[in-house]
Amino acid sequence: MTYEKMSEFAKEAGFSAWAPLDVSTIQLKQEVRDMCAVNTCGMYGKRWSCPPGCGTLEECGEQLKGKTAGILVQTIGDIEDSFDFEAMMEIEQAHKEHFYAMQAAFADAGISVIALGAGCCTVCAKCTYPDEPCRFPAKRLSSMEAYGMVVNEVCKANGLAYNYGPEKMAYTSCFLL
Ligand code: SF4
Repeated sequence: MTYEKMSEFAKEAGFSAWAPLDVSTIQLKQEVRDMCAVNTCGMYGKRWSCPPGCGTLEECGEQLKGKTAGILVQTIGDIEDSFDFEAMMEIEQAHKEHFYAMQAAFADAGISVIALGAGCCTVCAKCTYPDEPCRFPAKRLSSMEAYGMVVNEVCKANGLAYNYGPEKMAYTSCFLL
């Protein structure tokens, strides 16, 4: 699939910005996984989408092997200040909707992708982790960070802004083919 076609998908899904993702710029870092383990977000060890349930760094790297093309996508929205959590949650929700729309577009086109989003999987109100297998593996949403990526570094390496100023919030995801 061409980058132009992926761009069309991104536009139709509702994203605000996108850029080609050079797979060779992706580095999976143990330090990111270590930050997950600190559990600031409270999701470490709670969902199959997040460490350690999403697999070791090596296992995540294995999944990315053979991927030769990709696209970074962002949803950018307005916030009043860094405490405007309501607006941030609205932008995050919109980003998830855009993400699922783009994932569905790839599926409809018969294209197999690895889709890495922002935040944890919220498909089920209560995740089956660790007692039962994931209910919806095809819908499971792991974040770029869960796979060990430093998102701002990936954006920078691919010519996409990450920080749009104090009155903007951007959520970033990627699709790898
Ligand atoms: S799809 Fe459901 S069971 Fe699977 S990781 Fe997401 S919340 Fe957990």
